[in-house]
Amino acid sequence: MMSRPRISFEFFPPKTETGWRNLLRTAQGLGRFAPAFCSVTYGADGSTRERTLGVVRQLRDAGMNAVPHLSWSGGGKDSVRQLLRAYQSLGIDRIVALRGDAPAAGGPNPPRHAEDLVRLIRAEADAPLALEVAAYPEVHPEAPSATADIGYLKRKLDAGADGCITQYFYNADSYFYFRDRCAKAGIDAPIVPGIMPIGNYANLVRFSDKVGAELPRWMRKRCQELEGDQAALGAFGAEVVTCLCRRLLDEDAPGLHFYTLNKAAPTEAVADGLGLA
Ligand code: FAD
Repeated sequence: MMSRPRISFEFFPPKTETGWRNLLRTAQGLGRFAPAFCSVTYGADGSTRERTLGVVRQLRDAGMNAVPHLSWSGGGKDSVRQLLRAYQSLGIDRIVALRGDAPAAGGPNPPRHAEDLVRLIRAEADAPLALEVAAYPEVHPEAPSATADIGYLKRKLDAGADGCITQYFYNADSYFYFRDRCAKAGIDAPIVPGIMPIGNYANLVRFSDKVGAELPRWMRKRCQELEGDQAALGAFGAEVVTCLCRRLLDEDAPGLHFYTLNKAAPTEAVADGLGLA
Protein backbone atom coordinates (compact mmCIF):
# COMPACT_ATOMS: atom_id res chain seq x y z
CA MET A 1 0.00 0.00 0.00
CA MET A 2 1.30 3.50 -0.82
CA SER A 3 2.32 5.61 2.18
CA ARG A 4 -0.22 8.42 2.02
CA PRO A 5 -3.09 8.25 -0.48
CA ARG A 6 -4.61 11.51 -1.71
CA ILE A 7 -7.75 12.08 0.34
CA SER A 8 -10.44 14.54 -0.75
CA PHE A 9 -13.94 15.35 0.44
CA GLU A 10 -16.87 16.52 -1.63
CA PHE A 11 -19.61 18.86 -0.36
CA PHE A 12 -22.66 20.45 -1.90
CA PRO A 13 -23.66 24.10 -1.40
CA PRO A 14 -26.43 24.26 1.24
CA LYS A 15 -29.58 26.32 0.85
CA THR A 16 -30.03 27.51 4.44
CA GLU A 17 -28.02 29.30 7.09
CA THR A 18 -28.11 26.18 9.25
CA GLY A 19 -26.88 24.15 6.31
CA TRP A 20 -23.94 26.53 5.84
CA ARG A 21 -22.99 26.25 9.50
CA ASN A 22 -23.25 22.45 9.42
CA LEU A 23 -21.13 22.29 6.30
CA LEU A 24 -18.39 24.38 7.85
CA ARG A 25 -18.46 22.26 10.99
CA THR A 26 -18.34 19.04 8.94
CA ALA A 27 -15.48 20.28 6.77
CA GLN A 28 -13.50 21.44 9.81
CA GLY A 29 -14.10 18.15 11.59
CA LEU A 30 -12.93 16.15 8.57
CA GLY A 31 -9.81 18.33 8.47
CA ARG A 32 -8.12 15.89 10.85
CA PHE A 33 -7.78 13.50 7.90
CA ALA A 34 -5.55 16.08 6.18
CA PRO A 35 -7.43 16.17 2.87
CA ALA A 36 -5.55 17.36 -0.20
CA PHE A 37 -8.68 19.36 -1.03
CA CYS A 38 -12.39 19.77 -0.37
CA SER A 39 -14.48 20.02 -3.51
CA VAL A 40 -17.82 21.82 -3.87
CA THR A 41 -20.43 20.63 -6.38
CA TYR A 42 -22.20 22.75 -8.97
CA GLY A 43 -26.00 22.45 -9.25
CA ALA A 44 -27.42 20.62 -12.26
CA ASP A 45 -29.27 23.69 -13.58
CA GLY A 46 -26.63 26.22 -12.62
CA SER A 47 -28.78 27.21 -9.64
CA THR A 48 -25.86 26.95 -7.25
CA ARG A 49 -23.57 29.18 -9.33
CA GLU A 50 -23.27 31.83 -6.60
CA ARG A 51 -23.58 29.37 -3.72
CA THR A 52 -20.77 27.18 -5.03
CA LEU A 53 -18.57 30.25 -5.28
CA GLY A 54 -19.70 31.30 -1.78
CA VAL A 55 -18.85 27.93 -0.22
CA VAL A 56 -15.48 27.87 -1.96
CA ARG A 57 -14.75 31.32 -0.52
CA GLN A 58 -15.94 30.28 2.93
CA LEU A 59 -13.82 27.12 2.99
CA ARG A 60 -10.78 29.04 1.79
CA ASP A 61 -11.32 31.69 4.46
CA ALA A 62 -11.39 28.84 7.00
CA GLY A 63 -7.97 27.72 5.74
CA MET A 64 -9.05 24.79 3.58
CA ASN A 65 -8.00 24.02 0.02
CA ALA A 66 -11.37 24.42 -1.69
CA VAL A 67 -11.87 23.11 -5.21
CA PRO A 68 -14.96 24.06 -7.23
CA HIS A 69 -16.83 21.81 -9.61
CA LEU A 70 -17.67 23.64 -12.79
CA SER A 71 -20.09 22.59 -15.52
CA TRP A 72 -21.91 23.94 -18.53
CA SER A 73 -25.24 23.77 -16.70
CA GLY A 74 -27.16 27.02 -16.58
CA GLY A 75 -24.78 28.97 -18.78
CA GLY A 76 -22.57 29.03 -21.83
CA LYS A 77 -18.99 29.98 -22.50
CA ASP A 78 -19.26 33.47 -20.99
CA SER A 79 -20.64 32.10 -17.75
CA VAL A 80 -17.74 29.63 -17.55
CA ARG A 81 -15.22 32.39 -18.32
CA GLN A 82 -16.63 34.61 -15.57
CA LEU A 83 -16.53 31.86 -12.98
CA LEU A 84 -13.05 30.83 -14.00
CA ARG A 85 -11.83 34.42 -13.55
CA ALA A 86 -13.52 34.63 -10.14
CA TYR A 87 -11.90 31.37 -9.03
CA GLN A 88 -8.48 32.28 -10.33
CA SER A 89 -8.64 35.64 -8.55
CA LEU A 90 -9.21 33.68 -5.33
CA GLY A 91 -6.07 31.66 -6.07
CA ILE A 92 -7.93 28.42 -6.86
CA ASP A 93 -5.50 26.00 -8.46
CA ARG A 94 -7.71 22.97 -9.16
CA ILE A 95 -11.14 22.55 -10.76
CA VAL A 96 -13.37 19.51 -11.33
CA ALA A 97 -14.76 19.97 -14.86
CA LEU A 98 -18.05 18.24 -15.68
CA ARG A 99 -20.65 18.30 -18.39
CA GLY A 100 -23.35 18.43 -15.73
CA ASP A 101 -26.67 16.67 -15.57
CA ALA A 102 -29.99 17.94 -16.85
CA PRO A 103 -32.05 19.65 -14.11
CA ALA A 104 -34.22 17.27 -12.06
CA ALA A 105 -37.40 18.81 -13.51
CA GLY A 106 -36.44 17.51 -16.94
CA GLY A 107 -35.55 19.46 -20.06
CA PRO A 108 -32.87 18.77 -22.61
CA ASN A 109 -29.51 17.47 -21.59
CA PRO A 110 -26.74 20.02 -21.51
CA PRO A 111 -25.61 20.30 -25.13
CA ARG A 112 -21.85 20.18 -24.79
CA HIS A 113 -19.53 17.53 -23.49
CA ALA A 114 -17.05 17.89 -20.66
CA GLU A 115 -14.27 17.60 -23.22
CA ASP A 116 -15.24 21.03 -24.65
CA LEU A 117 -15.28 22.49 -21.15
CA VAL A 118 -11.79 21.17 -20.44
CA ARG A 119 -10.59 22.72 -23.70
CA LEU A 120 -12.20 26.07 -22.87
CA ILE A 121 -10.79 26.17 -19.33
CA ARG A 122 -7.33 25.23 -20.59
CA ALA A 123 -7.47 27.99 -23.19
CA GLU A 124 -8.69 30.63 -20.74
CA ALA A 125 -6.83 29.85 -17.51
CA ASP A 126 -4.14 32.41 -16.85
CA ALA A 127 -2.38 30.57 -14.01
CA PRO A 128 -1.43 26.93 -13.44
CA LEU A 129 -4.56 24.90 -12.85
CA ALA A 130 -5.04 21.19 -12.20
CA LEU A 131 -8.14 19.81 -13.92
CA GLU A 132 -10.03 16.74 -12.78
CA VAL A 133 -12.73 15.05 -14.85
CA ALA A 134 -15.32 12.34 -14.12
CA ALA A 135 -14.82 8.66 -14.95
CA TYR A 136 -17.25 5.75 -14.76
CA PRO A 137 -16.03 2.24 -13.85
CA GLU A 138 -19.62 0.97 -14.22
CA VAL A 139 -20.15 2.97 -17.44
CA HIS A 140 -21.95 6.33 -17.74
CA PRO A 141 -25.70 5.72 -18.27
CA GLU A 142 -25.77 7.59 -21.59
CA ALA A 143 -22.62 6.03 -23.04
CA PRO A 144 -23.12 4.07 -26.25
CA SER A 145 -20.79 1.37 -24.89
CA ALA A 146 -18.17 0.75 -22.20
CA THR A 147 -15.44 1.05 -24.82
CA ALA A 148 -16.80 4.33 -26.17
CA ASP A 149 -17.01 5.72 -22.63
CA ILE A 150 -13.30 5.02 -22.10
CA GLY A 151 -12.56 6.58 -25.49
CA TYR A 152 -14.39 9.76 -24.43
CA LEU A 153 -12.52 9.79 -21.11
CA LYS A 154 -9.26 9.68 -23.05
CA ARG A 155 -10.43 12.62 -25.14
CA LYS A 156 -11.10 14.66 -21.99
CA LEU A 157 -7.60 13.89 -20.76
CA ASP A 158 -6.05 14.61 -24.15
CA ALA A 159 -7.94 17.92 -24.14
CA GLY A 160 -6.02 18.94 -21.03
CA ALA A 161 -7.35 17.23 -17.89
CA ASP A 162 -4.77 15.94 -15.43
CA GLY A 163 -6.66 13.24 -13.60
CA CYS A 164 -10.04 11.73 -12.96
CA ILE A 165 -12.35 10.97 -10.09
CA THR A 166 -14.78 8.12 -10.52
CA GLN A 167 -18.48 7.75 -9.94
CA TYR A 168 -18.94 5.70 -6.79
CA PHE A 169 -19.16 1.91 -6.90
CA TYR A 170 -19.25 -0.90 -4.35
CA ASN A 171 -17.62 -3.57 -6.48
CA ALA A 172 -13.84 -3.13 -6.35
CA ASP A 173 -13.38 -5.37 -9.39
CA SER A 174 -15.30 -2.91 -11.56
CA TYR A 175 -12.63 -0.32 -10.70
CA PHE A 176 -9.69 -2.66 -11.30
CA TYR A 177 -11.10 -3.85 -14.63
CA PHE A 178 -11.81 -0.25 -15.68
CA ARG A 179 -8.32 0.86 -14.66
CA ASP A 180 -6.76 -1.94 -16.72
CA ARG A 181 -8.86 -1.09 -19.74
CA CYS A 182 -7.96 2.59 -19.38
CA ALA A 183 -4.27 1.69 -19.25
CA LYS A 184 -4.65 -0.39 -22.42
CA ALA A 185 -6.39 2.59 -24.05
CA GLY A 186 -3.31 4.72 -23.30
CA ILE A 187 -4.66 6.53 -20.22
CA ASP A 188 -1.91 7.05 -17.67
CA ALA A 189 -3.55 9.81 -15.57
CA PRO A 190 -4.45 8.96 -11.96
CA ILE A 191 -7.94 7.50 -11.56
CA VAL A 192 -9.09 8.26 -8.03
CA PRO A 193 -12.02 6.14 -6.81
CA GLY A 194 -15.10 8.05 -5.69
CA ILE A 195 -16.40 6.62 -2.41
CA MET A 196 -19.98 6.92 -1.18
CA PRO A 197 -20.22 6.12 2.54
CA ILE A 198 -23.60 4.67 3.48
CA GLY A 199 -25.90 6.97 5.44
CA ASN A 200 -29.52 7.12 4.33
CA TYR A 201 -30.42 3.90 2.49
CA ALA A 202 -33.55 5.15 0.67
CA ASN A 203 -31.65 8.12 -0.75
CA LEU A 204 -28.77 5.88 -1.74
CA VAL A 205 -31.08 3.57 -3.73
CA ARG A 206 -32.77 6.50 -5.48
CA PHE A 207 -29.49 8.18 -6.34
CA SER A 208 -27.74 4.98 -7.45
CA ASP A 209 -30.53 4.16 -9.87
CA LYS A 210 -30.30 7.65 -11.32
CA VAL A 211 -26.54 7.73 -11.85
CA GLY A 212 -26.11 4.11 -12.88
CA ALA A 213 -24.15 2.98 -9.81
CA GLU A 214 -24.77 -0.64 -8.87
CA LEU A 215 -25.80 -1.55 -5.35
CA PRO A 216 -24.95 -5.27 -5.12
CA ARG A 217 -27.91 -7.47 -4.20
CA TRP A 218 -26.32 -8.73 -0.97
CA MET A 219 -25.83 -5.12 0.17
CA ARG A 220 -29.37 -4.11 -0.74
CA LYS A 221 -30.79 -7.08 1.14
CA ARG A 222 -28.77 -6.41 4.27
CA CYS A 223 -29.45 -2.66 4.17
CA GLN A 224 -33.19 -3.34 3.82
CA GLU A 225 -33.01 -5.55 6.88
CA LEU A 226 -31.24 -2.86 8.90
CA GLU A 227 -33.10 0.16 7.55
CA GLY A 228 -35.06 0.84 10.74
CA ASP A 229 -31.95 0.74 12.90
CA GLN A 230 -29.71 3.65 11.91
CA ALA A 231 -26.86 2.60 14.22
CA ALA A 232 -26.74 -0.93 12.81
CA LEU A 233 -27.04 0.35 9.24
CA GLY A 234 -24.23 2.81 9.90
CA ALA A 235 -22.01 0.07 11.33
CA PHE A 236 -22.72 -2.23 8.38
CA GLY A 237 -22.08 0.57 5.88
CA ALA A 238 -18.84 1.55 7.61
CA GLU A 239 -17.59 -2.03 7.56
CA VAL A 240 -18.43 -2.62 3.89
CA VAL A 241 -17.07 0.69 2.65
CA THR A 242 -13.92 0.46 4.79
CA CYS A 243 -13.20 -3.00 3.32
CA LEU A 244 -13.76 -1.64 -0.17
CA CYS A 245 -11.36 1.27 0.43
CA ARG A 246 -8.75 -0.95 2.03
CA ARG A 247 -8.77 -3.23 -0.99
CA LEU A 248 -8.55 -0.29 -3.37
CA LEU A 249 -5.58 1.20 -1.53
CA ASP A 250 -3.89 -2.18 -1.14
CA GLU A 251 -4.09 -2.50 -4.91
CA ASP A 252 -2.60 0.94 -5.51
CA ALA A 253 -5.55 3.23 -6.03
CA PRO A 254 -3.90 6.67 -5.94
CA GLY A 255 -6.33 8.12 -3.41
CA LEU A 256 -9.95 8.28 -2.27
CA HIS A 257 -12.54 10.96 -2.98
CA PHE A 258 -15.40 10.84 -0.46
CA TYR A 259 -18.91 11.97 -1.38
CA THR A 260 -19.74 13.26 2.10
CA LEU A 261 -23.25 14.63 1.35
CA ASN A 262 -22.23 17.25 3.97
CA LYS A 263 -22.42 14.68 6.78
CA ALA A 264 -19.36 13.91 8.86
CA ALA A 265 -20.23 10.62 10.59
CA PRO A 266 -20.44 8.10 7.69
CA THR A 267 -17.21 9.41 6.12
CA GLU A 268 -15.43 9.63 9.48
CA ALA A 269 -16.30 6.04 10.30
CA VAL A 270 -14.60 4.88 7.10
CA ALA A 271 -11.61 7.22 7.33
CA ASP A 272 -11.05 6.22 10.96
CA GLY A 273 -11.42 2.56 10.01
CA LEU A 274 -8.64 3.08 7.47
CA GLY A 275 -6.45 4.85 10.03
CA LEU A 276 -6.25 7.99 7.90
CA ALA A 277 -6.33 10.46 10.79
P1 FAD B 1 -19.04 13.81 -20.42
O1 FAD B 1 -17.62 13.43 -20.26
O2 FAD B 1 -19.36 14.86 -21.42
O3 FAD B 1 -19.84 12.45 -20.75
C1 FAD B 1 -21.25 12.44 -20.79
C2 FAD B 1 -21.75 11.32 -21.71
O4 FAD B 1 -21.44 11.65 -23.06
C3 FAD B 1 -21.08 9.97 -21.46
O5 FAD B 1 -22.04 8.98 -21.71
C4 FAD B 1 -19.95 9.89 -22.48
O6 FAD B 1 -19.68 8.55 -22.85
C5 FAD B 1 -20.53 10.70 -23.62
N1 FAD B 1 -19.52 11.52 -24.32
C6 FAD B 1 -18.48 12.17 -23.77
N2 FAD B 1 -17.81 12.86 -24.70
C7 FAD B 1 -18.47 12.65 -25.87
C8 FAD B 1 -18.27 13.10 -27.20
N3 FAD B 1 -17.25 13.91 -27.53
N4 FAD B 1 -19.17 12.70 -28.15
C9 FAD B 1 -20.20 11.87 -27.83
N5 FAD B 1 -20.43 11.39 -26.59
C10 FAD B 1 -19.58 11.80 -25.63
N6 FAD B 1 -22.94 16.85 -11.91
C11 FAD B 1 -23.30 18.12 -11.63
O7 FAD B 1 -24.30 18.61 -12.18
N7 FAD B 1 -22.59 18.87 -10.72
C12 FAD B 1 -21.48 18.41 -10.09
O8 FAD B 1 -20.87 19.12 -9.31
C13 FAD B 1 -21.06 17.07 -10.37
N8 FAD B 1 -19.96 16.54 -9.80
C14 FAD B 1 -19.53 15.28 -10.15
C15 FAD B 1 -18.34 14.78 -9.61
C16 FAD B 1 -17.87 13.52 -9.96
C17 FAD B 1 -16.56 13.03 -9.39
C18 FAD B 1 -18.64 12.71 -10.85
C19 FAD B 1 -18.17 11.32 -11.22
C20 FAD B 1 -19.82 13.20 -11.40
C21 FAD B 1 -20.28 14.48 -11.07
N9 FAD B 1 -21.44 15.03 -11.62
C22 FAD B 1 -21.83 16.31 -11.32
C23 FAD B 1 -22.27 14.24 -12.54
C24 FAD B 1 -21.92 14.50 -14.02
O9 FAD B 1 -22.19 15.83 -14.37
C25 FAD B 1 -22.79 13.55 -14.81
O10 FAD B 1 -22.38 12.22 -14.63
C26 FAD B 1 -22.98 13.89 -16.28
O11 FAD B 1 -24.09 13.14 -16.76
C27 FAD B 1 -21.77 13.56 -17.14
O12 FAD B 1 -20.74 14.40 -16.86
P2 FAD B 1 -19.29 14.16 -17.52
O13 FAD B 1 -18.46 15.30 -17.15
O14 FAD B 1 -18.81 12.80 -17.26
O15 FAD B 1 -19.71 14.27 -19.09
